[in-house]
Amino acid sequence: MQEFEEKHEKHIEEILNVLETDQDRAQIVSDLHKFVDGYKIDISTARAAVIRKYGGNPEALFTPSSKPLSQIVGEEPNVNFRAKLLTVNQKEITLKDGNKRQIHEGTLGDSSAVLRYTSWQEEFPYEAGTVVDVGGAYSKVWNERIDVNMGDRAIINIVEDEALSALEIDVGSMNKGTTTSQECTIATLQNGMNGVNLNIRVLDIEKREFVNKTTNETKNLWSGQMADASGVTRFTAWKDTKMEAGKAYRIESGYVKEWQGVPDLNVGDYTTISPLEIDDLPPMEAFEAGLAMPIESLAVRGGSTDVVVDGYVINVREGSGLIFRCTDCKRVLRNNQCMVHGKQDGNPDLRTKAIVDDGTGSVTTFLDNTLTEQVLGKTLDDCLESIKSNFNPESIKDDLDKALKLKPVKIRGFTRSDDYGMMFFAKEVTLLNSDSVKEQAENLISEMGV
Ligand SMILES: [Zn+2]
Repeated sequence: MQEFEEKHEKHIEEILNVLETDQDRAQIVSDLHKFVDGYKIDISTARAAVIRKYGGNPEALFTPSSKPLSQIVGEEPNVNFRAKLLTVNQKEITLKDGNKRQIHEGTLGDSSAVLRYTSWQEEFPYEAGTVVDVGGAYSKVWNERIDVNMGDRAIINIVEDEALSALEIDVGSMNKGTTTSQECTIATLQNGMNGVNLNIRVLDIEKREFVNKTTNETKNLWSGQMADASGVTRFTAWKDTKMEAGKAYRIESGYVKEWQGVPDLNVGDYTTISPLEIDDLPPMEAFEAGLAMPIESLAVRGGSTDVVVDGYVINVREGSGLIFRCTDCKRVLRNNQCMVHGKQDGNPDLRTKAIVDDGTGSVTTFLDNTLTEQVLGKTLDDCLESIKSNFNPESIKDDLDKALKLKPVKIRGFTRSDDYGMMFFAKEVTLLNSDSVKEQAENLISEMGV
């Protein structure tokens, strides 16, 4: 362990630095060791996972993997970029509650674009001409223009970048960001995008009726799922497009609107649809097992209706295991108490809230009764039976810890977002046994006769 600690001294210091708390150093070392030597996860992924485990922001660790300003689209919740500040103006604004606040705004640029920015941070001690790395900013579309915003959680660092520093940026002639027609893939679709062009295959489509509340008119709409090699999206068509399940189409001038916290591709009056002449999209069978996406991309996108994530369970949260639900409203009881229907014994149920991390991000994952039974390898009745003998309902949570914690998993399901972030509701879970991985490797080696 000491050897490990010496070898990774720099990483351990950085983790402690980012966490900014009196986190036990020995615990951090032991966690990092478990990830790196025990589970063979690369050091930078392991480092990020340890930081996240203790509630830190791993972005503070990295030089943001920035993208050119011209590639920032509207409504991105988390953008990293490097830019030169071209103008910096202080401004006083009056908030809704009547309080006044100082903000800073101006323009910033790189060799690809010039964008307007607003900083909401209390202090903004940077002068025009300074080159900065910004992590955790967000973008908004305003008057058909892309603006970047630096909120409280944005990280701004001054950097030495001679090339960018010396670059003459002509504000007038620059690209002001793209809000019109753009070639997309499903993975890049985000809420608020307009004029998206893409090639897709329709997985399923159904006609539905809805009543327009203002006119009381009954209209038809068509909805279902579409996919390309990058992902699956739900879609809504407001006119009869004659699209059929299984067929491939070219969509031009679609737009993206959020529905239940997930981006939904909309086919509106101005959207055109034509059958693809050369269908080079994956066949229907390719979508049966689901498409994998890194959690980071999933979060940037705002979620998905059907996606696969490969990662590690880094924690099983409290409230997992054997729970009791209200017999009336199914809310989870606390101390035999429903917040609406009062004291009772309730109905027993099983569930799991696990934090799954794939190195690019983490997501709270919910396993229902059936999947929790699958992971435990025993039924609800078995669990109730074991409680009768050990009088310890917490033992089911311990069993879940044993079954899941630090184990590689493949989960397939859909997401929902609320104020607390993105939640993943699993429809399938596969425990990738690390022993079996090891066994396979050993078999392979012996087969090769090494
Ligand atoms: Zn209730």
